[in-house]
Amino acid sequence: MTKLAVSACLLGESCRYNGKAKADATVIERAKAAGALAICPECLGGLPTPRLPSEIRGGDGEDVLDGLAKVVDQAGRDVTAAFIKGAQEALRVCQEAGVTEAILKARSPSCGAGTIYDGSFSGQCRPGMGVAAALFKRYGIALSTEEEAE
Ligand code: SF4
Repeated sequence: MTKLAVSACLLGESCRYNGKAKADATVIERAKAAGALAICPECLGGLPTPRLPSEIRGGDGEDVLDGLAKVVDQAGRDVTAAFIKGAQEALRVCQEAGVTEAILKARSPSCGAGTIYDGSFSGQCRPGMGVAAALFKRYGIALSTEEEAE
């Protein structure tokens, strides 16, 4: 049976960098029906809320996991370690719950699956995965975003 995990901000938790949620009615309905697990990798990595926005520089989440790219916040502070820790914690929680599928927040440097912001903090995007999404994918969790769940 499919066990679903969902980015907590899509379920109405105020865990985004700006201290707000991004509740998505369609995703909330699906999550309720499936008894989904709410996860926020950045919170699990020990980052505070609110926090400065972060983006991946020099690649995507796959490259971050391979040590080839960094995650930096808008002030230029290297937050790579917290993003990797959060991804690993989120994976651990998902594995303990038997999660096989995840609906993740589009374009996030943690949760983005397929498209992420490009590291310039200008709202531009590039193809690629967030750090947690890349790790989930490596462990066989099927990924989609709220934009595909509409
Ligand atoms: S890390 Fe993921 S769940 Fe947490 S606020 Fe960012 S997009 Fe939402």
